[in-house]
Amino acid sequence: MKKYNFGAGPCVLPREVIEKTANAILDFNGIGLSLAEISHRSKDFKPVMEEAQQLVKEVLDVPEGYSVLFLGGGASLQFCQIPANFLVKKAGYVNTGAWAKKAMKEAKHFGETIEVASSADDNYTYIPKGYAVPSDIDYLHVTTNNTIYGTELHKDIDVPVRLIGDMSSDIFSRPVDVSKYDCIYGGAQKNLSMAGVTFVIVKDDALGNVEREIPTMLDYRTHTKKGSMFNTPPVVPIYTALENLRWLKAQGGVKTMEKRAKERADLLYGEIDRNKLFRGTVKCEEDRSYMNICFVLNDEYADLQDDFFKFATERGMVGIKGHRDVGGFRASCYNAMTIEGVKALVSCMQDYEKKH
Ligand SMILES: *Cc1c(COP(=O)(O)O)cnc(C)c1O
Repeated sequence: MKKYNFGAGPCVLPREVIEKTANAILDFNGIGLSLAEISHRSKDFKPVMEEAQQLVKEVLDVPEGYSVLFLGGGASLQFCQIPANFLVKKAGYVNTGAWAKKAMKEAKHFGETIEVASSADDNYTYIPKGYAVPSDIDYLHVTTNNTIYGTELHKDIDVPVRLIGDMSSDIFSRPVDVSKYDCIYGGAQKNLSMAGVTFVIVKDDALGNVEREIPTMLDYRTHTKKGSMFNTPPVVPIYTALENLRWLKAQGGVKTMEKRAKERADLLYGEIDRNKLFRGTVKCEEDRSYMNICFVLNDEYADLQDDFFKFATERGMVGIKGHRDVGGFRASCYNAMTIEGVKALVSCMQDYEKKH
């Protein structure tokens, strides 16, 4: 039976990207050695790092003056690396849920941290809008896609201070106006690669403004100066990222990814809204994520939760259980999710409706 991976992360990757990674681990470029056992400074690996960085710039149309880094530690380490490099006196955060809160918690180690806006009053089912951004904060931090709650900021906002974006779960799913941000970061395992590497796109001249000492590994300048090769980078996930970026470019780039994401999301939200058993958890339609589509059973059918999960699993749907903070179901539709996968889930929902 064909399986469809709706997991929220690590997530589905194009099959050819997995195969190319597998081959590179067995024998890299026909050199008779595995990608996993060669030096990151060798003439064989250096082009991988350089092309991966170049493709990030090309695909996202990154302006001059930015560096692309591939680091370890996940997006969670960035929660502290961001304030270490950018928080002089005071930082502002938009609280759109669990990841935003974790980011804010780490910033507090470095200085005053304020919540500029929040959607906590309605369990993060919308993106705050129309809030005032204080001009005395060093930066505003936003989480552009809220993986757990299924809300997404579909446009890059204008703010009078530095803007920093956690784009872990929507990077490369749409064109981004990178020039609006001083830093964009994320764990790779949602839409770029496998787990183990973190991407950072940072504006070079935004660095060096804090007076406190920054530990060497946490200082972005350590890595921008060394082309992301200060220490041993995670070579295998970087290679997977390279192959995925090549795939993405060949498909038509982020514009194509956005079009496909919208097609998938329209199809699935359409069914959620139509089907008598289900309802979406995000009420504000314009805030609905194209990446993580959250839905629950309507109250009168709530006891079917485990049964529908079993029904869907038996038909090849993998990873659709909702996060415990939201409950119900979450179908994550990252770049490599096919429209066929979404159609299979939709027909699964329709067949289940007929039984009830
Ligand atoms: C998954 C996720 C993270 C955490 O990423 P790690 O790489 O596991 O640390 C942070 N922010 C968002 C929006 C996420 O989806």
